[in-house]
Formats: sequence, C-alpha cells, structure tokens
Amino acid sequence: SSLFTSKNKSQNQFVIPSNAPLKNSNFEDLGINSKLAKYLNEKLHYSEPTVIQKYSIPNLIKKNNNFKNDLFIKSQTGSGKTLAFLLPIFNNLMILKNQINRDSGLFAIILTPTRELALQIHAVLDRLSKISVNIVSTFVIGGEKKKSEKARLRKGINILIATPGRLLDHIKSTKNLDLGSLKYLVLDEGDKLMELGFEQTLTEIIQNIEEQTKNNENSAELLNLYPELPNRRVTILCSATLKDNVKKLGEISLNNPLLISSNANE
Ligand code: ADP
Ligand code: MG
Repeated sequence: SSLFTSKNKSQNQFVIPSNAPLKNSNFEDLGINSKLAKYLNEKLHYSEPTVIQKYSIPNLIKKNNNFKNDLFIKSQTGSGKTLAFLLPIFNNLMILKNQINRDSGLFAIILTPTRELALQIHAVLDRLSKISVNIVSTFVIGGEKKKSEKARLRKGINILIATPGRLLDHIKSTKNLDLGSLKYLVLDEGDKLMELGFEQTLTEIIQNIEEQTKNNENSAELLNLYPELPNRRVTILCSATLKDNVKKLGEISLNNPLLISSNANE
C-alpha cells in the first residue's frame, strides 16, 4: 500500500487547488458541533477555519466518509495544522451519546518530536476541554519524572500527548497503559520526527498499537457503546514538507491515505 505510486495518486491524493472552494465555510459547515463552533468563535476568537482546516476536518467527521481514510496533512508551518486534527478528534469524543469519562479508555494519542511541542498542543487541548470537562488528557514527555507520569496514566486518560521515546518506554513498563481502545493516532511534525531519528521507535509503537487493538477483547463492546467512533484506528500524519523521509513515515504508518496538501504543485 505505497502512498505515492502513480496508481494511488489519482485515487488517494487530494491536493487543494489554488482556487480552493469552501471559501466561506465556518467550523459548523465542516461538521463541528454547534456548541464547540460557537465556543471557538466567541471564546477563542477563531472566526474562520484556515484553508488546511477546511480541507482536513470534513475528512475526520463520520458522516462524510465513515473514517475510511487516513490523512496526510501537508502545509506550511503556521497554517493551523494543530486544530486541523485536534478539533475533529475532540469533537468526535464530545458528541458521543454515551458520554465518556476518564475510565472509558484511551482513544487518541498525539506524538510530537519535542517536549515543547507536546506542551503547546496540550495547552490548546486544555482550552478546548473547558467546554467538555469529562474528556481527560495528559502528556508524557522525556525529562519528566516517570513516576508521576505513571500515576497520571493510572488515573485514566482519554487523549494522550507524548514524545515517541517516552511513550514506548511507558508501553513497555507501565502495565495499565492499554492501547486496545485507540481510535486516533496523530504523528505531528512528521518531518522533524524523522530528522530526529524516531523511525524505529515509531515503528515499534505502531506495532504495539496494532497488536493491542487486534487482540482487544472489548472492541465489539466499544463499538456498541460508541457507534459514532471509527471502527478502526485512524492515523493522521502532519508535515510541513513532503521530503522522502516523511513519505517513508507515511508508508510505515498510513492506510488508504488521502493527501491534503495546501501546495498544488507537489
Ligand atoms: P502549524 O501546526 O501548521 O504550524 P499551528 O496549528 O501551530 O500551525 O497554528 C499556528 C497559529 O495559528 C496558532 O497561533 C493558532 O492559534 C493559530 N490558528 C489556528 N487556527 C486558526 C484559525 N482558524 N483562526 C485564527 N488563528 C488560527
Ligand atoms: Mg504544528
């Protein structure tokens, strides 16, 4: 399932044309819950989605393609990729009829190349969480005290932000970290993840996730409880470039990917 063969190019690649439509769409038009959309406008002062958000978010909303595709989101730094993945993930957890709590399971992992970036993303998530306080998130990053991280994980987490080395460390050594309910995996700044040499660590993390989701005894029960969630793990790879190393990461991590690129010529 190579991402960039010419066969897949016509089927799977969606490149935003320079005269992109959807020009006037707001967050609600993209499928974001009206309460969340209103909060974004009125409290966080995001009046309009950015271009990359306009093209990414609908693909992560169930009614549009039933989560058939993984996403490769490629756009320049500063174009709003964080909310392009965070908003739909948060939205999809927030709208569940059976409201989740910290014991419901780990549904999303966001991997970042650096501790600083993990903290930044967690700060954005913290602001979103003000309107749906039942959704619990935390971070595990290198340099933090592992013991206190273990304690936070043990209390139950729905969304986890992590650096790859530290996550793999916890997967191997923190018994109660259960990946079996995972529905979203985000690899943020894929180019940097590869530059910093995380390829092998990421491969191992993905193998662990695949094993645990495959063997998850509660998966039928999960689908019953939360029919609005994807019935598979959806992976989202973000990058500012389409260099060979990121393409390789795409081949390692993505299934049936759509390329959402804000540069029409790549
Ligand atoms: P990227 O990950 O593509 O580098 P970020 O997600 O870090 O970009 O966003 C860059 C900046 O744009 C941040 O300060 C963020 O708060 C802001 N931003 C994101 N989405 C919007 C929006 N819809 N409207 C206005 N500002 C936004
Ligand atoms: Mg970013």
